[in-house]
Amino acid sequence: MAQVQILVDRTACAGHGMCYGTSPDLIDCDDEGYPILPERPLSDTETSAAQAAAAACPERALSLVDASTASGSRK
Ligand code: SF4
Repeated sequence: MAQVQILVDRTACAGHGMCYGTSPDLIDCDDEGYPILPERPLSDTETSAAQAAAAACPERALSLVDASTASGSRK
């Protein structure tokens, strides 16, 4: 699998924190409860954590994308 990056659709994110609750080593949160994501390609271990976080998000606000196309696609 190509290297991936995790992105959040901020218009869909409701800030209730299932993502960083599920994968706290990968995702941090800001003062308002919104996720802070690594802005770089993920390792295999991080990719697994990102997949778990995306699956846990009730708003389907997280997506894993090919890291080579991720730049500039953040909403
Ligand atoms: S679980 Fe989804 S909606 Fe909730 S803070 Fe994380 S990205 Fe946003």
